[in-house]
Amino acid sequence: MISIKSLPHFLLWNAILVLPVALAGQSNVVSHTFAGASEITKPFVLYPTPNGTTTGITFSPDDPNAGIRISDADPKSGIGIALWIKVEPGHLYRQTATLKGGPLMFYFKWQDADKKYLAPEKASTFPGSQDFKKFEYAERAPDQARWCQLWIYSASTMITEVVLRDFRTDDLGRAVDSSPGMTPTTAESVLKTFNLDYPGLEKAKAALEKKDFNLGLKEILIYYRGRTHIIHTKLDRSKKKETLITEKEQRWADQALSHIFPAQPAYPSSDRGADIDWATNPTKDPEWIWQLHRMYWWPALGKAYWSSGDERYAREWCQELADWVKKNPLDHSHAYAWRTIETGQRCVTLTGSFEAFVDSAAFTPDILVQMIKTVHDHAGHLLKNKGSKNWLLFESEGLMYLGVYFPELSEARAWRQEAIKRFNTEIENQVFADGVHNELSPSYHIGVIDTFYSAFRIAALNGMAGEFPKTYSATIEKMILAVMKISLPDLTLPQFGDSWKGRSLTNFFRTWNGEFPREELAWFAGERQNGKAPAETAFALSQAGFYSVRSDWSSNAVCMVLKSGADGGFHCQEDNNTFEFFALGRHFMPDSGSFIYSGDPEGRSWFRKSSVHQTLTLNDANIRYQPKLRLWQPGRESDALIVENANYSNLTHRRAVYFVRKKFLVLVDDAIGTADGDLRLHFQLLPSTMRLDEKNLSVQTDFPEGANLLIQSAAGAGISLTPEEGFVSFIYTKKEPRPAFAYRIQKDSKTGFCRFVTVILPYEGIAPKVGLVHPGPGKSPDEGYTLRVTLPNDSVTIHYNPKSNQAVIQ
Ligand code: CA
Repeated sequence: MISIKSLPHFLLWNAILVLPVALAGQSNVVSHTFAGASEITKPFVLYPTPNGTTTGITFSPDDPNAGIRISDADPKSGIGIALWIKVEPGHLYRQTATLKGGPLMFYFKWQDADKKYLAPEKASTFPGSQDFKKFEYAERAPDQARWCQLWIYSASTMITEVVLRDFRTDDLGRAVDSSPGMTPTTAESVLKTFNLDYPGLEKAKAALEKKDFNLGLKEILIYYRGRTHIIHTKLDRSKKKETLITEKEQRWADQALSHIFPAQPAYPSSDRGADIDWATNPTKDPEWIWQLHRMYWWPALGKAYWSSGDERYAREWCQELADWVKKNPLDHSHAYAWRTIETGQRCVTLTGSFEAFVDSAAFTPDILVQMIKTVHDHAGHLLKNKGSKNWLLFESEGLMYLGVYFPELSEARAWRQEAIKRFNTEIENQVFADGVHNELSPSYHIGVIDTFYSAFRIAALNGMAGEFPKTYSATIEKMILAVMKISLPDLTLPQFGDSWKGRSLTNFFRTWNGEFPREELAWFAGERQNGKAPAETAFALSQAGFYSVRSDWSSNAVCMVLKSGADGGFHCQEDNNTFEFFALGRHFMPDSGSFIYSGDPEGRSWFRKSSVHQTLTLNDANIRYQPKLRLWQPGRESDALIVENANYSNLTHRRAVYFVRKKFLVLVDDAIGTADGDLRLHFQLLPSTMRLDEKNLSVQTDFPEGANLLIQSAAGAGISLTPEEGFVSFIYTKKEPRPAFAYRIQKDSKTGFCRFVTVILPYEGIAPKVGLVHPGPGKSPDEGYTLRVTLPNDSVTIHYNPKSNQAVIQ
């Protein structure tokens, strides 16, 4: 059983802040301006084309404020322009145009994968305007839709004269299933959503019986101000005075008074105007507008209010809530505010804000109506629209918070029960037996621990821990131990998949150690001053496909973490057999990282490419997920790991990693199969200067102080060395150049297999001379080999026998 203690609140908020979670799909934005146009250009076509007399299109290249003029003086023929886009079924698409004159029709003509039209086509008519006006029209793509013809059209019978200045289409993500009729909107209907037999609500019940609805609401508010038996995990009124506010939170709270709000944290906060703009995006990245609706600054406003007692913060929050509820109804046109992941996260923030501001005079019965109305919208939306993977966890966390925090609402029990049921199912579904979250992104792994744990904590604080089985907390503990096992010596995590190195995990370990009092967690929580380092130094998390070896647990350790797993989905990358390497205080080989989710598809796919990972590719094609563990042989002196991945249908990559004397790595990379072409074994370094010696097949870092790294390949048949393009991203939207290179072989289909042998040696002072003899590829990859590595003070023999599947390092 987990014991619950009070936690430093900022940690929990931070855990969510570091995670720019995205929709599982690509955004599909078409944007075009016609101002200054001199012809219709791709992706548009004339459809149908002007007839040359009574219908026509003219351009106004000299007037940047005008656009294309569509003239139709013919009651029998039409004129228009069209383009085709790829669509995701179930997603909502919005056309936006600026135009004057009119009328004009805007169509969504859905098509299946073979571009056959699907009925019914959808259209909306711009009725006409004397001045330029924005026109918006959204529809949901039907289930069979894969394409859509967007058609801007003056129909055959129509007569029009219209100037179109710009046109844009946005993919707004999965369309929401809304039923606004269910939402209580008046004092009476809100009162009726309460179970007025709940202890403490007697006066509210009497008021309802007398049909004095406003009095009823006042009584409920009085009840909430006196309520002490429900505790919020993140903002707790009984600890108002002890709640600390950070500098950043104070800044956010103060800026919020002028409607300057943070959204996706990689971008600067944005001034949303006196009349708050919740809808437009100052960036080209849809993550920005989505994350605006997570209300990151609301907890900060609450803390600023508690620490200063300044009513301006409370008035501001109450106005923002009412404004948000009014301007963001739960419907198709506001889908950007209602992605289920944000809806779930907002429930945690909504309940925390209720806790923060309910005592303020600004929190009027009308604010209570807005609050309860939106609570029902949030819960209903989350019940009806169930996502998957990490989304489902954020959704369930939201339902859980509403269900536990508002037990007075008649539906609260059902919300809570559904949330607990989902969590109990998902902790089984989404976590491998080795404790790793199945999306295989270390950053998401941390975020997911927080949702599992947060749901459990609010239940436990309010006497409902018994609704979770014992295995639930045992799995959370296993997930925390997995973090420890794949951590790097600077207490960060590898950047596999959509991950960011981030700051030290010490604060996370402090939080976790509060719940799980284990010696090894105390070691990390106490920055290696308390507790005890883990007894082992090598871990195979083989269901996930994460493997780590290290010399010791100090910050100076030599450490490698390798990834070779199944397809973890959107947040996972095709990078099997890649690894990160950290030694003697330097993160020598960080993964390229993730860079961005939306708004820059080229940037995103560059960072996802197999060839920007430390693995093997052929002709720069992305590799598949088809992993197999061949050998895991941790030892007292040295460790050995052999993994395989069937990179292509006709080429398997077998990678042996020997962690010799727990000081340096020897890699034996076999490319097995009949494929031919440009075979490359890729490596990437931290941002620094690289010294590349093509003749000796060696690469060195060039740090004047501290440790350096030598990568040396054994000269074998046809192996050459070449620099490659390199970037690394440690922060969302930020990237920096870094050295990268590859060892190459031009492979022909007759060569059954090729072999690279590489030493990766960290050192301090002068670079040691490494002697390394290529054992030759042999006749078959299933033949054993013996390797000799000589160093100034050491000589190592590595022997591997595939038949007995044993490695000997002497
Ligand atoms: Ca990567």
